[in-house]
Amino acid sequence: MANETSVIGRFAPSPTGPLHFGSLVAALGSYLDAHAQQGKWLLRIENLDPPREAPNATTSILACLEAHGLLWHEQVQYQSQHSDRYEHALATLSAAGHTYVCDCSRLAMQQASRPDCVSDCRLSKKAHGAIRLRTHTATVHYNDRLRGDISETLAATCGDFVLKRRDNFYAYQLAVVIDDAFSSVTDVVRGSDLLDNTARQCYLYDVLALPRPRYLHLPLATAENGQKLSKQNHAPAIQLNKASENLWDALCFLRHQPPASLQAAPVRELLEWAVAHWSPQLLPTQP
Ligand code: GLU
Repeated sequence: MANETSVIGRFAPSPTGPLHFGSLVAALGSYLDAHAQQGKWLLRIENLDPPREAPNATTSILACLEAHGLLWHEQVQYQSQHSDRYEHALATLSAAGHTYVCDCSRLAMQQASRPDCVSDCRLSKKAHGAIRLRTHTATVHYNDRLRGDISETLAATCGDFVLKRRDNFYAYQLAVVIDDAFSSVTDVVRGSDLLDNTARQCYLYDVLALPRPRYLHLPLATAENGQKLSKQNHAPAIQLNKASENLWDALCFLRHQPPASLQAAPVRELLEWAVAHWSPQLLPTQP
């Protein structure tokens, strides 16, 4: 039985299209990691950006997970229902002087070759614009369970990053931290395409005085041409009638090859084997 101190993992897809092999690998890796530690595995749909949503993507993601036996604990969460908690966090940060409103245009930032504010927004109170978090000269240190210790100086990479966009959508960095903290997520296991975001997220945890989760970034599945598999690149959708085969392939990709006797076994049996044999040390850092 999971209790308050036990492991909580999660899968947090954006509903921009059906799951592809790369997202199945991320779902499977986080599921196995949570289950191998007798933890819970939560599902959160990151539907913060309606223009990028694909019709029926959420239904198709849920059906795909179910077909692969990747059943979640508790109710599915939807970020679109969490505005109150994001506003509360923004108000706390603003009251403590950690944020400012920035109305610099993307073009102005490009021309100045800076990732963040290029004008006097840090000092003047702008009425409209994006809300940015002051990062000062922070160097963030964190540990990835696969890659070891990592450091990043935010001023050199992203600068004062955006928490709420000028079009009023909440930024991924804010929402992911607030939601993982709300759900007491202890272990973030996700694709290494998201590694670049981790220092920003750790910084935000620290500023909000919230405990950081542990991180494990899984190797990224790529297409034959080496390109990242993504919904934007139109990676082929997972076929539900090949669930057992897909799980087998995803396990092999994660260097957890099941015994030949389990070839074509029902998904439940494959998952049972995989939970019992889950061992993050086996993961390759590169595919
Ligand atoms: N919603 C993000 C995506 O689909 C993943 C967020 C996360 O796992 O931190 O890429």
